[in-house]
Amino acid sequence: MRRNLTPDTDLAAKLFGSLRDATFDGTGITREAYGPGERIAHAIVRAEAEALGLEISVDPAGNMLMTLPGAGRALPRVVIGSHLDSVPRGGNFDGAAGVLAGLASVAGLRRAGVVPARDITVLAIRAEEGGAWFPTSFPGSRAALGTLPPAALDTKRMDSGRTLASHMAEEGFDPLAVQRGESLLKPAGVAAYVELHIEQGPVLEAEQIPVGIVTGIPGSRRWRTGRVLGEYNHSGATPRRWRRDAAIALAEFAVRLDDAWAELEARGHSLVSTFCVLATAPEAGFTKVPGEAVFQLDIRSVSQASVDAMAAELHRLVPEIERRRGVRFELGTEMTAAPTPMDAGVQAGLARAAQAQGIAHRSMASGGGHDAVAFAQAGVPAGMIFVRNQNGSHNPHEAMRLEDFAAATSVLMHWAAEAAG
Ligand SMILES: [Zn+2]
Repeated sequence: MRRNLTPDTDLAAKLFGSLRDATFDGTGITREAYGPGERIAHAIVRAEAEALGLEISVDPAGNMLMTLPGAGRALPRVVIGSHLDSVPRGGNFDGAAGVLAGLASVAGLRRAGVVPARDITVLAIRAEEGGAWFPTSFPGSRAALGTLPPAALDTKRMDSGRTLASHMAEEGFDPLAVQRGESLLKPAGVAAYVELHIEQGPVLEAEQIPVGIVTGIPGSRRWRTGRVLGEYNHSGATPRRWRRDAAIALAEFAVRLDDAWAELEARGHSLVSTFCVLATAPEAGFTKVPGEAVFQLDIRSVSQASVDAMAAELHRLVPEIERRRGVRFELGTEMTAAPTPMDAGVQAGLARAAQAQGIAHRSMASGGGHDAVAFAQAGVPAGMIFVRNQNGSHNPHEAMRLEDFAAATSVLMHWAAEAAG
């Protein structure tokens, strides 16, 4: 472990300022995927990478590779990546922190005169915020690896209604080449991938630990179009025994499933379960017993067994509540995603890098999805570093202390120096 290496966090601080100034929308930060905000962010980062003398190339999907050349150019490279888009009216750190940490790391290596044995590439990834722009999983990072299914190019951006292919072309990129699977990276050419990201949750702040080493990214079972069907009736004229109240049935379902979550947690399971929507139908109104209620349910865990245990509780509760309350549940289409564990060797390497520098850290599961999934699913050893942050993310109040960023970036830099040899 080299001890004299320090990342150039002044450079990162300057870039955080430039990004904020250029993409502040009056309330928060908006960097539209394949739109003006993301374009501006790529230009700012590119100018700095050019000033650092890094090799720059842009793939057919618009992902930008900024490479510190190593001695062995043909060896599989180390990739440090994250995204530069944001949700509308979001924060300045979600995504950008990972790209700037990569630049600060290679700038520090260059300053120290280090020529790694293999290339280290900082990857600025397109369109990660699927919930805000293109509702598909990680189109940028999958295109970067040549693993994006062609059908994903037909996904429509939620605000414009136009396809990913059309937005890509508008920004000057080549959706036909993406469709053919052309890319600058291939999974076999990547020795390891690490993504630094703000935690987006309260755990590190509460435990006063600056750095998290991610064990895995959760899988999920989700129901977006759940309905409970009862019968509309007069709220004054319908005695209790004749009611088929969809709202109360859904409320019972939500509370009992929440109790089941607590019990599973007490038995050692680790998961999160959220009724993102819990509502009566638009026909509901004063003086009516609700005849229909709707819900969206999102269950996630890095353990498939825990997700499945929760789903089993759901399937146990539904028929029981249906029988007793005279209602019918329509769960609708279930969407599933498998958990993605992070590579054990990468996790160990990151922990060593933290320990060697006396940086407090803990292992933790990710709450959200990240581009690291695309790399892990392509067979690349992948890992993630979380930075303690305040006020969550995807909102204008998202915050991060620069000293925590510096600590996490130092872990990243020492890991990269070791992984690149
Ligand atoms: Zn992010």
